[in-house]
Amino acid sequence: MEKIKKNAKLISLIILGALAVVIWYAVFYLEGRQNLLVSFFDIGQGDSVFIEVPSGNQILVDGGPSDRILAKLGRAMPFWDRSIDLLILTHPHADHVTGLFEVLKRYDIGMVLESGAEYSTPEYKEWHELLQKKKVPVAIAHAGEKLILGKGTILDVLSPWDNYVSVSLKNPHDANIVGRLTYGQNSILLMGDAERPIEQRLLFESLNSKFIILDSDILKVGHHGSKTSSSEDFLRVVSPKVAIIQAGRKNRYGHPTQEVLDRLAAVGAKILRNDLEGDIFLASDGTSYSVKSK
Ligand SMILES: [Zn+2]
Ligand SMILES: [Zn+2]
Repeated sequence: MEKIKKNAKLISLIILGALAVVIWYAVFYLEGRQNLLVSFFDIGQGDSVFIEVPSGNQILVDGGPSDRILAKLGRAMPFWDRSIDLLILTHPHADHVTGLFEVLKRYDIGMVLESGAEYSTPEYKEWHELLQKKKVPVAIAHAGEKLILGKGTILDVLSPWDNYVSVSLKNPHDANIVGRLTYGQNSILLMGDAERPIEQRLLFESLNSKFIILDSDILKVGHHGSKTSSSEDFLRVVSPKVAIIQAGRKNRYGHPTQEVLDRLAAVGAKILRNDLEGDIFLASDGTSYSVKSK
């Protein structure tokens, strides 16, 4: 009897000890989050960017081509955290949407932002079925929307300009969501797979409105470094100090193209590529930023 009592005491002590470790880990984790953290995951041929805002909000922009995203999120997020505040699907191509299936199944999602354009693929059908099943609220992205993310972090939606809800497009990239994330003096332009037509529209609109700013510290290069994006005049205005290219090792599309690498070098951008560097992490305190890779 005495032995059982002793064992019970020992077990409760171990449980209490484990709880204390979890609580202290949580305290340090949350306190340590003074910075904006952006992870550009090495996810194969596709896009996936995870944003952690100092206020605690978490945003996932695209999920890459497979469930590889789960391991990446597992490493980026604390183990007790099973929710993501916002999922952004830049456009419905499989290399952006497929990884989001498992994310929808395993995490509580606060909201989804998409263009609403129609796209008749099995992947896009499955995406909508899952959204309905999990009852996730869906908002439609329009240029001019401002997402206030707390503690001075803002995501400006810069594209699409037109209403594409239920519209079938020959090229889904024409309705691609472009966002510009700012924290203090630092800015990141997230292009998704936007191509030249969107770049030209953005240049035109930015000339006519002082509210549309393209100049950014970091550029998530459009369409994996394909030559149909990153036109010279656009890159001159964005004038990124760092250009991040999300492309898979030895991908069959030849992304990124030498032409785009040359154009980025011509505007003085330091080029970082997931296919060469692995995961790329950016941290900003609102005044300065650092980028490292693994
Ligand atoms: Zn893509
Ligand atoms: Zn695409």
